[in-house]
Amino acid sequence: MAAKKFVYFFGPEGSEGNASMKNILGGKGANLAEMCNMEIPVPAGFTIATDMCTVYYKNDRNYPPELAEQVDENLKKVEEVMGKKFGDPENPLLLSVRSGARASMPGMMDTILNLGLNENTLQGLIKTESDTRFAWDSLRRFMQMYGNVVMGIKGEHFEHAISSLKDKYGIKNDLEMTVENLKELVESYKKIVKEQTCKEFPTDPKEQLWGAIDAVFGSWMNERAIVYRKMNGFSDDWGTAVNVQAMVFGNMGNDCATGVAFTRNPATGEHIFFGEYLINAQGEDVVAGIRTPQQITLAGSKKWAAEHNVSEEERASKYPSLEEYMPEVYENLCNIYKKLELHYRDMQDIEFTIENRKLWMLQTRNGKRTAAAAVKIAVDMVNEGLIETDDALLRVTPDQIDQLLHPQFVKESKKNAKLITKGLPASPGAGTGQIVFNAEDAAAWKANGLETILVRLETSPEDITGMVAANGILTGRGGMTSHAAVVARGMGKCCVSGCGGLNINVDEKTIKTGDLVLKEGDWISIDGSTGEVLLGKVATETPQFNDEFEKLMNWADNRRALKIRTNADTPRDASTARRFGAQGIGLCRTEHMFFEGDRIKAVREMILADDLEGRKAALAKLIGHQRGDFYAILKEMQGLPVTIRLLDPPLHEFLPSEPQQIKEMAEIMGCSEEKINDKIKALHEINPMLGLRGCRLGITRPEITEMQTRAIIEAACELTKEGIKVFPEIMVPLVGNVQEFKYQEKIIRETAAKVFEEKGINVEFLVGTMIEVPRGALTADEIAEHAEFFSFGTNDLTQMCLGYSRDDANKFIYDYIDKGILEKNPFRSIDQTGVGQLVEIAARRGKKARPNIKLGVCGEHGGDPASIDFFHRCGLQYVSCSPYRVPIARLAAAQAAINNDVVRQIKQTAEDAYSKAESTAKDVYAKAGTVAKDAYSKAESGLKNLKETLENSEELKKGVEGAKKIFNDIKDKFKKD
Ligand code: ADP
Ligand code: MG
Ligand code: MG
Repeated sequence: MAAKKFVYFFGPEGSEGNASMKNILGGKGANLAEMCNMEIPVPAGFTIATDMCTVYYKNDRNYPPELAEQVDENLKKVEEVMGKKFGDPENPLLLSVRSGARASMPGMMDTILNLGLNENTLQGLIKTESDTRFAWDSLRRFMQMYGNVVMGIKGEHFEHAISSLKDKYGIKNDLEMTVENLKELVESYKKIVKEQTCKEFPTDPKEQLWGAIDAVFGSWMNERAIVYRKMNGFSDDWGTAVNVQAMVFGNMGNDCATGVAFTRNPATGEHIFFGEYLINAQGEDVVAGIRTPQQITLAGSKKWAAEHNVSEEERASKYPSLEEYMPEVYENLCNIYKKLELHYRDMQDIEFTIENRKLWMLQTRNGKRTAAAAVKIAVDMVNEGLIETDDALLRVTPDQIDQLLHPQFVKESKKNAKLITKGLPASPGAGTGQIVFNAEDAAAWKANGLETILVRLETSPEDITGMVAANGILTGRGGMTSHAAVVARGMGKCCVSGCGGLNINVDEKTIKTGDLVLKEGDWISIDGSTGEVLLGKVATETPQFNDEFEKLMNWADNRRALKIRTNADTPRDASTARRFGAQGIGLCRTEHMFFEGDRIKAVREMILADDLEGRKAALAKLIGHQRGDFYAILKEMQGLPVTIRLLDPPLHEFLPSEPQQIKEMAEIMGCSEEKINDKIKALHEINPMLGLRGCRLGITRPEITEMQTRAIIEAACELTKEGIKVFPEIMVPLVGNVQEFKYQEKIIRETAAKVFEEKGINVEFLVGTMIEVPRGALTADEIAEHAEFFSFGTNDLTQMCLGYSRDDANKFIYDYIDKGILEKNPFRSIDQTGVGQLVEIAARRGKKARPNIKLGVCGEHGGDPASIDFFHRCGLQYVSCSPYRVPIARLAAAQAAINNDVVRQIKQTAEDAYSKAESTAKDVYAKAGTVAKDAYSKAESGLKNLKETLENSEELKKGVEGAKKIFNDIKDKFKKD
């Protein structure tokens, strides 16, 4: 049996790999191979596959014997192509050794350049007298890099040697070091290596090479790399590849250079070639900041000069663009970048080196970009005919949309600010203000035109007005699903929660951390996207929606199947959400209306009342307020559906808890403190979230349901009379038993009928329920006989299905995630395997009992992209999320539709099969030699035909449509059974 292939060659005559082989060759290796296949000049080399990394760790960090053979074979090929020999003192081949996993990964090993150098081989670099310095400088750089990266010697030892040498000779700038100085430095480097490792610096090029290969594989399991993988959910099994490549030199004189560039501006997305280079430099000098890099384009250079107050004369003489300095090379580079962009159909981030005016490409990859650039590039590329709208929709992540919607710190301003501490990034965006320690102050300061950040240990519903007034919220306790976090996200207000590093004293109105003490009125700034808390005032800016953004969202709207509604409790939220494209309100929580102004008084009166009469009298004070709220919200939504949930939370939430507040309340209500305390005791529950709440309230106190229904229907009648369209959907919460629903439904329908009669008008409305108790989900068929819609309350459903208290889960959930017990927080992204079953079952049984039942989701998960994909697959009709997440959900829903598109999947599979077949055929060709040439070319033309058929065939499309229909029929049948 032939030995397994671990090493893949790439070079000007073509490569054994290609861009589709990222899993085997790593991103860097696959793209180097692809560029060679495209006849772009790349120094020859080879890639040791990622499989080797896995084998290496399985074998206790040993290689199978065939690896050395394959490396030698390929090294020989590189020598042939480059016309140099590894280790040859006359004409030495030097190598770079570069790591490269599937995805670019900081934390992996740094690249080693100039490998193969020693005091012998460096002679071969010296073609003329003037090369001597370059040769010695290359050697000392190599020793420094190798010593640090491979031998593990701290960089500071080498730095120290340089600075003492400079001191000794009074040298200021590295470039002033003479050949003699550099020779002396090499000697001291040798000593350092000996002292630090008790070994000599390896002079044998082969030994150097294997040392470097070991180091790359070794770096896969270093701490930084492991942490990074964990953070990004990359698997340890991927492994890294090792790229060994012939060196080219950008530092051999003034007709040499090195640079990096983006095919479009990565910050703005503008279709402008954008990059920097340095004359006579090597490797990462451009990004290292030792010398001022120059702009590649003339336009870029002029812009740079203007920004840095550099005169045109100085610019042209000292910092010319590559376009001016080497016009032919520049033109060549432009042709290549255009070719690459066209080929990859995405913005590329490229690295290159110019050796004696010859351009070599060293890397290309899809470039990282800001959110704004992602949107612009995606839309531009559709307009340019490079990609389809579906591709564009997949190019922008929902997170990027999120970034675009929130205020951000002005970069320059943030750079200068001092970081105090970090908490959890609970609600994205940036805010700055003077600190206040309670909600009343936040509101009062705002009324005086002041900007505030509300600092609390944790927040409660009573803090809402303060949260609205403040520019941001900072809490000492609580996690990502704490009250502060959830409410802040709902408002689109930035919030940093769980700042354990701050000692917050609300009574003294101080924050302490280390030596720092902040008082009320001091300025701080918080970044809810990162969790950073900064000292002082940092400038913020709000991004604007531009045409590209609107266009992309438009495509998303046309593509998605799910409708997007919003959770909104106020007309203001409703109007924000409509601006963001909401198609209705999926959850309007009436209890939030109970806290505002003096309403809380009436609510408390109702709770304190001894009998039905007393309760009714208190409710009579509330009905006007409620009707007004519903009137405003229904009016704002102009006939779009508005799901209004009847009172849900346990009543104790409306009563005060602090003695001072109790005293105040007693005064206002004109009763004794004792009476209030008694009532609080009476209402106390051990497990309030499983206690007297939801429809249980409306069943034990039907007058509440009656009052709320009346308020809704009266508002609806009033608006209808005014000629304004309305569509209320009244929702009964926490139903687990059809009898509960029937009892509430009867009150609702009877009340509505009464109002219609009084007003002499009829208004269409629905009565439905939330599915949030597991029993409700399981008996959905019974409930659907009566309920006209289901809205999945996935927060409570998760809480009850998993048995995790939403309010206390933070105490263990992050441990669970750390220890791999949970993959993610089930309160943020729905647990598809567990809770998901309840959703599926309820949807299926609900539809069976009532085929036209409306199905939607409200709750945190409605704004989470992974959950949205799941709800799309469950066949729900809409998701509802907080106003600021509406655009995110619109894009996520479109992506769900694209990613689950059967036609697309089949096409993709066919294309993958095609490219596999193609590369196998190539492989066979390479191995079989001339005899099989004929067979190969036949196979190739066969493949071409197949590809054309794939691209053009209406037949195939029809076939796919047919398959899809059959597939759906089977699915439906399956569901019915
Ligand atoms: P990173 O992953 O950090 O970008 P690279 O492997 O791309 O690391 O190497 C960094 C830089 O080293 C390259 O941009 C290039 O300037 C230089 N380099 C790498 N390989 C070679 C080579 N064969 N010849 C010349 N320079 C090289
Ligand atoms: Mg690097
Ligand atoms: Mg690179």
